[in-house]
Amino acid sequence: MKVELRNTTKKLCVIGDPVMHSKSLPLHNTMLQALGLDYVYLCQPVPAGQAAQWLSAAKFCGYAGFNATIPHKQALVPLMDSLDEDARMYGAVNTVCLRDGRAYGHNTDGRGFLQSLLDQGVDPAGRRFLLLGAGGAARAVALKLVQQGAAGVTVCNRTPEHAAALCAQDPTGRMVPAGFDRESLCRAAEGAEVLVNCTSLGMTGVEAQFSDFSFLDALPEGAMVCDLIYAPAQTRLLAEAARRGHRTMNGAAMLIYQAVFALEHFTDTHIEARPMLDLLRPLLEG
Ligand code: NAP
Repeated sequence: MKVELRNTTKKLCVIGDPVMHSKSLPLHNTMLQALGLDYVYLCQPVPAGQAAQWLSAAKFCGYAGFNATIPHKQALVPLMDSLDEDARMYGAVNTVCLRDGRAYGHNTDGRGFLQSLLDQGVDPAGRRFLLLGAGGAARAVALKLVQQGAAGVTVCNRTPEHAAALCAQDPTGRMVPAGFDRESLCRAAEGAEVLVNCTSLGMTGVEAQFSDFSFLDALPEGAMVCDLIYAPAQTRLLAEAARRGHRTMNGAAMLIYQAVFALEHFTDTHIEARPMLDLLRPLLEG
């Protein structure tokens, strides 16, 4: 990856804490270079509780925008001059555009997952989902699925209060909280057409793993199993699901789509996503 810098080059970055593991820098700079856009994308550690200071600094330094990851997504919400529909729905911002001293907050996570699912020929409308986890990613995925007409979303989570709080945000009553013990998982799996792991279990660098995968045996034949994790490319959950004959999808396409959508916001241009998927997938496989 070679980045050409000029006096006119506009600055973008990702903020977070921790952030050094982020793939955003190579993904965005590769896209910017391929599209011939005069921007550079940096990696900026910002400690928890300092989103407001960062926002002032970014405006002062003339940043065109930035992405946000843990722990800033919720903290940025009240700091925005305007929020798009998804950022308002999730109560979280992952993309900030800075124009004329104003901050515009977006959230591309749910759209990213939705598009990766549609690419697999799976339209959420009328389907029954089982989500594992009730954190920030689960919130974006669950609310987007319900918005798109999912018939039901069961949210199984280790901490029951987190699942209950997430489901309480659903105005349609189609989201149902459940436990994370074997029995609850098996019961929820019985009716699910698509299972989505939104926990960090199985992620590179995270020691915790699923204690057993027998809940996969309760899935109907033909059910699809997704994992939002993209490193490793095949988690143990996906390997166990594939072994049982289920179609699987990891989180790489979601990550790329949400980056493409963010870059569209930053640069106010339409970007063809398909060539970007082909270009960026190898960066996530290494
Ligand atoms: P988060 O807000 O911290 O939520 C983590 C979730 O995992 C919570 O539901 C938590 O349950 C659960 N969990 C953690 N450790 C557990 C354990 N030992 N046993 C059972 N459950 C456990 O994180 P997040 O931002 O939602 O991210 C979740 C995953 O999605 C991460 O792996 C992240 O990399 C991935 N992700 C991928 C993309 C993409 O573009 N592909 C985008 C966003 C996130 P409790 O509520 O009980 O704590």
